[in-house]
Amino acid sequence: IIKMVDIQSKHITKQYVSFDSIYNDIHTLYKKIKQIPVNIDCIVAIGTGGFIPARLIKNYIEVPVLTMTVSHYQDEVLQTKTKHIQLIQAETEESKFIKGKNILVIDELDDTRTTLAYITNKLLELQPNKIIVGVLHNKDKEKSGILDERVTYISSKKVKDKWIVYPWEVKDIDKHNKLSIL
Ligand code: 5GP
Repeated sequence: IIKMVDIQSKHITKQYVSFDSIYNDIHTLYKKIKQIPVNIDCIVAIGTGGFIPARLIKNYIEVPVLTMTVSHYQDEVLQTKTKHIQLIQAETEESKFIKGKNILVIDELDDTRTTLAYITNKLLELQPNKIIVGVLHNKDKEKSGILDERVTYISSKKVKDKWIVYPWEVKDIDKHNKLSIL
């Protein structure tokens, strides 16, 4: 069941996603990942939106979870750019989880794909054996970020190019659920 609904507010049509639908999407994502003949050694959660999805994927793929966190800002020509807050650096204890290993990168949403391209390029510098990217939702739009050809990309499902509100972003979960279960 798709528990999403479009709400018109201040000219932005939002899609409110319930935890129940997140659980279904996680299971779908897992089933798609399972079809790839690769044993995953480690999950990299992209923060902060990918933290909870990564924890939920860990219920199916029991491997260590590391994190890389980014933030977004607008440059002079109002283009959205990515900058990192925390990365896994080369020659550190954490980098041993990446070098020569099969990595599953998890994020909640692929919008312009800029973040996924940024993070996977940083991870490739650490010489993993294989990178699989798994996202819950892939916005149906043209992407400006381009993934390296060595990266395998999977999404649980495509969604409309409208603002999505996730249950972990809200303070009032009852109100959120009402909007998402209409
Ligand atoms: P991208 O780099 O693919 O353009 O966007 C990456 C991040 O921007 C997403 O992981 C998410 O954190 C944030 N983002 C983009 N669109 C939305 C949206 O519709 N809803 C929410 N909650 N976050 C979004």
